[in-house]
Amino acid sequence: MAVRLREVHRDGIEEHFGPTDARRDLARIPIVGRLLRSRAFQFGFILPNQIIFWLVMATGLLGAALPTRNFATVITWYIWFCVVFLLMVGVGRGWCLMCPFGGFAEWSQRRSFWSRKKFSLSLGLRWPERWSRWGLLWSVGMFIALTWAEEYFNIAGPGAPVFTSYLVIFIIGLALVTFLIFERRTFCRYLCPLSALIGTVGSSGMVAGFRTRDRDVCLKCPTKDCMRGSERGYGCPWYEWPGSATSNLACGLCTECFKNCPYENVGLFVQPPLTSVIAPVNRRLDVAWAVALLFGLVVFQQVNALPFYPQLDGWLNRVTHFPGYPNPLDYLGIIGIVALAVAAWPWLVRAAARARSSSPSAWFKPIMYGFAPLMASDYLARQLPRFWDHALRIVPAISDPFGLGWNLFGTAHSNLYNVHLLSPAGVVHSQLIVVGLGALASLYATQRILRRDLYPVAGRPAVATVMSSALILVAGAAVLLLYVAMNGAQ
Ligand code: SF4
Ligand code: SF4
Ligand code: SF4
Repeated sequence: MAVRLREVHRDGIEEHFGPTDARRDLARIPIVGRLLRSRAFQFGFILPNQIIFWLVMATGLLGAALPTRNFATVITWYIWFCVVFLLMVGVGRGWCLMCPFGGFAEWSQRRSFWSRKKFSLSLGLRWPERWSRWGLLWSVGMFIALTWAEEYFNIAGPGAPVFTSYLVIFIIGLALVTFLIFERRTFCRYLCPLSALIGTVGSSGMVAGFRTRDRDVCLKCPTKDCMRGSERGYGCPWYEWPGSATSNLACGLCTECFKNCPYENVGLFVQPPLTSVIAPVNRRLDVAWAVALLFGLVVFQQVNALPFYPQLDGWLNRVTHFPGYPNPLDYLGIIGIVALAVAAWPWLVRAAARARSSSPSAWFKPIMYGFAPLMASDYLARQLPRFWDHALRIVPAISDPFGLGWNLFGTAHSNLYNVHLLSPAGVVHSQLIVVGLGALASLYATQRILRRDLYPVAGRPAVATVMSSALILVAGAAVLLLYVAMNGAQ
């Protein structure tokens, strides 16, 4: 029995180390290892962003009302959102390592910037078990609600800078309250509006996260300090066990497990792109629904730029006596219809592949994982017009962040204010390239996933391949057409 158990775990090790191996362990580079071991490591990443976000709050509240000149709106909507998406696609939860929302709340919870304190300020409650079954869907719901508010108040338009400050204050406030009530990073795991997006989009990224080097050592490890904590560090704030992770979904790169492990059995692994899409063994239903719903949301943000949409929204507002754009009925309706259409497709694939003996969700989950890179590319493409058209406005904004006529660095009147990095046609081409690459990535990932997860149960594997590819091709073509029709609209 012991031998069989060991073999099972050996399979697990191969699965675990298939996408990553010891040669790709960045923590083995001496200087990287030393940095990761420093207790101030994460603080060093969070501090600059913390300063910027407090500046955003101050300049939005107290600065000039002109959104194209105010530091808060310029840096948040022309640069930050695009950079965060690039980080997600390239790295995974790289933003979570340096995030000021979770950072500030965690400092307050721990009563410390970086040192290990015995007692925290939090009530330390556990997130109820029955709530945790919804997993990332809490975060998806928060993101959909906040995006509706963002559209309603025209925050990212950008509209009045004060609304950008309110949004940031709301997220930081919610994070703080949650950290002071619940233990660890409950907020990041469930409530943060960005968490589901970062987790699903980040699955394409090349950082696998912190994992164990040799799982056999973990199996014999009596203390499990990585999860429980020790005098060297806190137990994993994200409730992860580095020994069982097969994706980068829930590793916030905080380095606590690396500091805690008494056997130096934790490394920081990098992986080829898409590994965390293809490799997971236990696929999650909440992740699959998150991909479908987030795709519905980004498609709404494209549809609302089309000429017919204001008429539809205006008509619904008149009928329902709703005061402004976007009417919740068409907002939630479009998200729901797109998400359900995408989610229904795997059921058809299953029927066509004559795989009725397998459960529908056994098809839904892997096909949605394969769809994630296309969804991710759509979000990235959606951020590009603002970046290409207005990112250089940061140059005058940093010299006069409050719009009070200052000229701190001599760039307040820079001509770069009017410079567009790409022509309107160039903006559309960049969107088409990004979505095209996303569709190719989805096609590749889906083929790999089908062969491993679904061919064994498919009576007609070729039909499964054709139909799963058709979903990506049809959705990808629809997204491309929408970008052409939007013509670079922000
Ligand atoms: S989950 Fe949200 S709050 Fe937590 S670190 Fe990531 S972005 Fe920040
Ligand atoms: S403390 Fe180290 S050896 Fe023990 S379970 Fe965690 S990673 Fe494995
Ligand atoms: S403790 Fe380790 S596994 Fe947990 S979030 Fe931090 S780095 Fe990731």
